[in-house]
Amino acid sequence: MTLMSVEQLTKTYQSTNVVDNISFTLEPGKCVALLGPNGAGKTTTLRMLAGFIKPTSGTINFSEENFKKDVRNYVGYLPQFPVFHNWMTGEEFLIYVGQLSHLSKQEAKARAHELLELVNLIDARKQRISKYSGGMKQRLGIAQALIHHPKLIILDEPVSALDPIGRREVLNLIRELKKDATILFSTHILNDAEEISEEILLLHHGKMIKQGSIEEVSDSQDTVSIRLAFSEEPKFIEERLKEIDSVFKVVRQEHGFIITVHDLNAARNQLLDTIKNEDWQLTKFEVAKSSLEDIFMKAVTE
Ligand code: ADP
Repeated sequence: MTLMSVEQLTKTYQSTNVVDNISFTLEPGKCVALLGPNGAGKTTTLRMLAGFIKPTSGTINFSEENFKKDVRNYVGYLPQFPVFHNWMTGEEFLIYVGQLSHLSKQEAKARAHELLELVNLIDARKQRISKYSGGMKQRLGIAQALIHHPKLIILDEPVSALDPIGRREVLNLIRELKKDATILFSTHILNDAEEISEEILLLHHGKMIKQGSIEEVSDSQDTVSIRLAFSEEPKFIEERLKEIDSVFKVVRQEHGFIITVHDLNAARNQLLDTIKNEDWQLTKFEVAKSSLEDIFMKAVTE
């Protein structure tokens, strides 16, 4: 079953497609990371999915029957730079947001309490938001996004601006939320994506250049790398390796090289031929999955 399907979504500003014909589906209960360098189109995509801006073309369909009424009934959204009424306490703010979502004062109060417990702000509920740390504000922002029990939670760079403690708190919270809802969050911190998401969508210049589960993306032919080591480093080896057709990039490491390739079979054969012909003293030849960072760097520099 699919929760949301997005087809050929495009947003054009001043005749530039900042989101360019992207398609993907979101399955219920998954945590999906939207990756891409600055300016890739992540925020624009998330704002379209959350119903804040209209696509230039393409469709966004929610499986929910009543979806046509208003997508915002089903989606909770945390913007990259959330704005709070800093003079309010965390509790007052959530009650206020609850009432904006058409809950009665009584219901809003009960929901605010539930959420303050969930995001671990119950002890700080009577403090003014101006006194909250970055991590606390971000957790309050997530609570705000959850007020109306959304099926899909969209978080725009939820941890990028936080210190390591705040970041850890928010990542732990996202891990909790995964149990009950589908989460789509953008980040340019690849470790975070690797740590908490099952799937990735990789945007570059508005285009979707990779998508799938982390395993699929790391296993695919074009994202594996070959690790080489030699008992004695041959002369000009780095230059020689770079001359091989199927080699994409050569990175020197303390004990050898990591080689990203265009085509694994071709690279394996060409490398082994060269090593044999040159009589290089090989001590290690290992085909390894690429890290998300290798995949990302390869994809955005190609
Ligand atoms: P990301 O979130 O990946 O950093 P954005 O979606 O914020 O990327 O922006 C993608 C591109 O669209 C950028 O080049 C940005 O300058 C441009 N852009 C975003 N919003 C607007 C707008 N309202 N008008 C014109 N250009 C915009």
